[in-house]
Amino acid sequence: MGAWRINADGVLELRTTPNVNLTASFDAGGGNRGPRLWIDFPGTPTRPRNIAGAGPIRQVRIGAPEPGITRLVIEFLPGTQLDPTQLKLEGVDSNNWKLQLPNQLGGFIAFGEGNVDRVDPVVPMPLPGYKPGETQLSPRPPLRTMQASDLPQVNRGRFRIVIDPGHGGPDPGAVGIGGNQEKDVVLEISLQVAELLRSRGVEALLTRSGDIDVDLPPRVQLANNSGADAFVSIHANALSMSRPDVNGLETFYFQSLQGRNLASAIHSSLLKTVRRTNRGVKEGRFYVIKATRMPSSLVEVGFLTGSDDAADMIDPAHRRQLSLAIAAGILDYLRLEG
Ligand code: ZN
Repeated sequence: MGAWRINADGVLELRTTPNVNLTASFDAGGGNRGPRLWIDFPGTPTRPRNIAGAGPIRQVRIGAPEPGITRLVIEFLPGTQLDPTQLKLEGVDSNNWKLQLPNQLGGFIAFGEGNVDRVDPVVPMPLPGYKPGETQLSPRPPLRTMQASDLPQVNRGRFRIVIDPGHGGPDPGAVGIGGNQEKDVVLEISLQVAELLRSRGVEALLTRSGDIDVDLPPRVQLANNSGADAFVSIHANALSMSRPDVNGLETFYFQSLQGRNLASAIHSSLLKTVRRTNRGVKEGRFYVIKATRMPSSLVEVGFLTGSDDAADMIDPAHRRQLSLAIAAGILDYLRLEG
């Protein structure tokens, strides 16, 4: 990406390398999160960064949702009303684009990066057949809001699951934006997952049900002595406070095919329910999934240091959706493999 600016009239101006295709989308936000629009460009950003906004814009973020893609995210203040049908990203010429933000929002203050007005000394010829396009921003369809009644049915009284909330007591686990502690987030989610499984006739055991420190070997022992059909450890991620651009879900298993199927069932249920960066289902060597003898998985429900995830993880509605999605994934696995 060459340069971008939001001018005082609320026009987003972009200068890109010539003849690229951009894709743009929109999310209405909700709760403590304002609407966002984002534009994807070819190329990996040299430096992912967050830039404080001005006027109705809370923040501008430049990151890489995946290698080879640069994403410019414009996040508005919570409560801002935007009509996506009024938003059009228009090609001005082969390397300049503009998007008029609704000027009734008012109060725009010019800011940006790089020189949008620079005229390239050698204007490259457009590719044959290239016409500066017009991209209509399409709102992403809302995700379903899951409810307990949506949970899959399994044979009642047949299955036993061990849920392992990470950390606890003097071990806070990851500590993120606003001082949020992993041990608290994952305990609440784990308690909900256990309750939801019980509502479907699955026996759910917890390695801890309060804010206490339990070493890893007793957690594994409890699982191995329980005759459980599956073990699911619930954690939240953290990276440095200087990387708020890193967000998303990842789910781990250790070696076994059944463990991978369990991890995949949980992971895809999460992605269907909460809109998050997909960091994938991966093989991991965490002690609790390595030493447990039943199919086991460790799920990381988000980054407490991530600007997107952290805001959501303190939201009880989002935690409820995470809990429902994890329970649904476990039930899906039991239905197919248990
Ligand atoms: Zn952890």
